[in-house]
Amino acid sequence: MTAYQRDVKTRQTDVNPVITVRPEDPLQAAASGDERHRILDAAGRLLERGFHLFACDHPDSTRCACGRSCDAKQRGKHPAGRWKELATNSLVTLGSQMTSLRNVAVACGPSALVVIDEDVPGALEAYASEAGEEIPNTFRTETGKGTHFYFSAPEERLGNGLGQLRGRGIDVRGVGGYVIAPGSRHQSGRIYEASDWKRPVAQLPTWLEEALRASPMPNSGLIRADAGTAARAEYGGDLWRLVLQVLTVDMETESRHGRLHWAACRAAEDIAAGYYDERQARQALAAAGVDVGLDERDARDYVRRALRWGRDHMGAVA
Ligand SMILES: [Zn+2]
Repeated sequence: MTAYQRDVKTRQTDVNPVITVRPEDPLQAAASGDERHRILDAAGRLLERGFHLFACDHPDSTRCACGRSCDAKQRGKHPAGRWKELATNSLVTLGSQMTSLRNVAVACGPSALVVIDEDVPGALEAYASEAGEEIPNTFRTETGKGTHFYFSAPEERLGNGLGQLRGRGIDVRGVGGYVIAPGSRHQSGRIYEASDWKRPVAQLPTWLEEALRASPMPNSGLIRADAGTAARAEYGGDLWRLVLQVLTVDMETESRHGRLHWAACRAAEDIAAGYYDERQARQALAAAGVDVGLDERDARDYVRRALRWGRDHMGAVA
């Protein structure tokens, strides 16, 4: 047993008073006690691996941990506060975030992880076999609808951009992203299960890293045909042109934010003209911002504000 493990073991006893429940129904109390125990037990193992964790919503708690009135489909995933500040490698600190029933999430950036999150079962396997490659034997979690594949991040940072994996039922979580940890409960009632706790996290294989970095390179001066086709299929005729403008930003001469701002102003005009709605524009432009390397939250906030600015400055306030 390493000093760190001993430390974790000692600290575990400290955590118990923090997570004491005072329920009215003893049966529910026992059930919720088991639930907490399973979630914290899994969290302890993840902390030993050096992962950074934080508390998030649990679908059985009365209201969403984010403080808003989220509907059933959104439950179980929202952080219980500013997650980048909450993320910790200390069991005591994590325990102090879990004074009521909570799930746990893994902050990928500080944990030095890239996690492939399948929305469609078998999606990564399908991509790998097309590329003539094999998915390395790595730590993974079965989720409500697919698998989370954990990889250790390469030295050069990888965000949440999808590169060639876009449109394949796959999400990527790197710097600026998080995934719900094994032990937690999905809103469908299923538990996120680690497939094998003994399995180490493998290095992100080169073929996968290259696929993730394969968004159009700044200054290449070329619009890659497949990026164009994917954006067109995903966002439709009018929006894809704006998405492409963002994807092909020339960082030598202008900023990504500047190009996003320009695209959002054009989108605001299109929205007013009824070509598509604001939600579609927000999603498409934020995804394009992530593809050119912006942090997901930054891209989303920036696009939302830029769309509002565009709308207000064309005198068409909705
Ligand atoms: Zn919420």
